[in-house]
Order: sequence, then C-alpha cells, then structure tokens
Amino acid sequence: MAKAVDVKVCLLRHTYDPENLAALAAKLCYTDSDIQGLNEKLSRVDVESFIEKIVRIGHHSVLEHVSFSFGVEGVSRALTHQLVRHRLASYSQKSQRYVKHTEGFDYIIPESVSAHNMGEKFEKLMKEISNLYAEMINAGIPGEDARYILPNACETKIIITMNARELLHFFRIRCCNRAQWEIRKMAEMMLEECLKVAPSIFSKAGPGCVFGPCPENEFTCGKAQEVRERYKKFLKESGRLN
Ligand SMILES: Cc1cc2nc3c(=O)[nH]c(=O)nc-3n(C[C@H](O)[C@H](O)[C@H](O)COP(=O)(O)OP(=O)(O)OC[C@H]3O[C@@H](n4cnc5c(N)ncnc54)[C@H](O)[C@@H]3O)c2cc1C
Repeated sequence: MAKAVDVKVCLLRHTYDPENLAALAAKLCYTDSDIQGLNEKLSRVDVESFIEKIVRIGHHSVLEHVSFSFGVEGVSRALTHQLVRHRLASYSQKSQRYVKHTEGFDYIIPESVSAHNMGEKFEKLMKEISNLYAEMINAGIPGEDARYILPNACETKIIITMNARELLHFFRIRCCNRAQWEIRKMAEMMLEECLKVAPSIFSKAGPGCVFGPCPENEFTCGKAQEVRERYKKFLKESGRLN
C-alpha cells in the first residue's frame, strides 16, 4: 500500500579514529619524523588542537583521508536529484528499473501541501499513480518504462559516502536556509551524526553564517542571527559548546 514516510539517517561506517588520522596527516607535513613514531606519539590533546588549527587555517586536504558512509531512507527522488549533484561523493541508490512497486510506492508529503489543505488531494493522486503503475507492470510494460509516471515525491533509499572535506562543503551549502527544506533536514541529521564521532572536525560545520558573515550576499535569507542561535543550541546539545 502506498503511504507517506519520513526521513531516516544512519551513519553506517566511518574511517577508524578519523580525527587521529587527519591530525597524523597534518603533523606529518610539518615534522621530520618517521610515520610510525608520529602515530605512537599523538595524544588526544594534540589531535584536538591540530584539528582545530587545520579547520581554522583551511588546511582541509588532510580531511580527505577520512570518510563517512550514511544510509538514508524515507527521502524523495526530488531530494536525491539535488544530492547527486555533489560530485566528490559515492552513491548507491535503490533502482526504479530493478525494484518494482507493484504493491504501491511510499512517498514524501511536503508540510506546505498539508498546510494548504491539499494533503488529501495529494494522497489521492499518489494512489491513482500507484494503481496505474501496477496496471502497466501487470500488462508487461518493463519497470524501466512504467517508472516514467512515478513522481518526484516517490520515496527512495540511498547510501552516501563522502570524505570530511566534502562534508564540510556540503553542510555549508545544504544546511543553509537557502537550501530546499528536505535536503536541509537530511544534511542537519548527517551533521548530528558526524558530531558524535568527529566533534573537532565538525564543530564549526554548518551554514556559512554561523561562524562569520552570511556568504549569500543579495540572496541572504536575512535570518543569520536566528540561524546562529539555532546552531549554538544544536552544538550545545551535542556537547561542543558549554
Ligand atoms: C540553494 C541552491 C540552489 C541551487 N539551484 C540550482 C539550480 O537552479 N540549477 C542547478 O543546476 N543547480 C542548482 N544548484 C546546485 C549547485 O549548482 C551545485 O551543482 C551543487 O550544489 C553541487 O555543489 P558544488 O558544485 O559546489 O559541489 P561538489 O560537486 O560537491 O564539489 C565540491 C567542490 O569541488 C570543486 N569541484 C568539483 N567538481 C569540479 C569541477 N569539475 N571543476 C572545478 N571544481 C570542481 C568545487 O570547488 C566544488 O564547490 C543549487 C544548489 C543550492 C545549494
């Protein structure tokens, strides 16, 4: 049965001891020492101060050594169409060629649709599409052709792998108020997961206006102060601010 669903984000895997590895890579650049020796000498305090410096001065290439893989479900094809524009990442997405939705497809309903009392009409249309899709499949039309009638709202699942440098960039533009609400919500959930395992790398992640002036110029949402307050609370809750 076709039904409305909501986003789920799970951090599936990440590079072992990500902050230690990034700090080791940075330290190697400035020390005349063998790598094994450096690896053994790095303390947690060294790691934190090195990462803080790397992020502050923009020596971000060392962050490319660590990567994070997320499992995301309950998102629309409209979201993943935007997501896969990020080229420095790897993706594996549920196929609409091989996976057939003969029992109906799940879908995402934007809040604005319900807020404008269009929820029922929206759901009715999803069911009609679902029925016609099943009829097409049962008539022998291949999944790769029947999917042409599926909407942007159609639910999908995707595994995303990005390195920490790309994630900082991704969070900067996709946690911003200018980003579309669904991808912004997913990006914020991904950031929450990253903060749990690499708090020093991601403690200054988020939209550009949080730690500096809004970079959006004439396209600014005009709510930088509100965004800063929200992130202050967010970072406090994740233990990164006292
Ligand atoms: C608010 C918003 C509105 C948008 N509106 C539209 C729209 O109307 N139409 C549309 O088509 N897209 C739109 N986009 C998508 C946008 O143009 C980018 O395609 C998308 O955000 C991916 O970002 P990116 O290119 O910075 O980065 P990524 O692919 O994530 O790459 C990261 C960085 O690596 C570098 N890089 C990557 N590939 C290259 C390359 N080939 N050459 C040189 N440098 C490279 C760049 O510095 C880039 O910023 C929008 C995005 C946002 C956030």
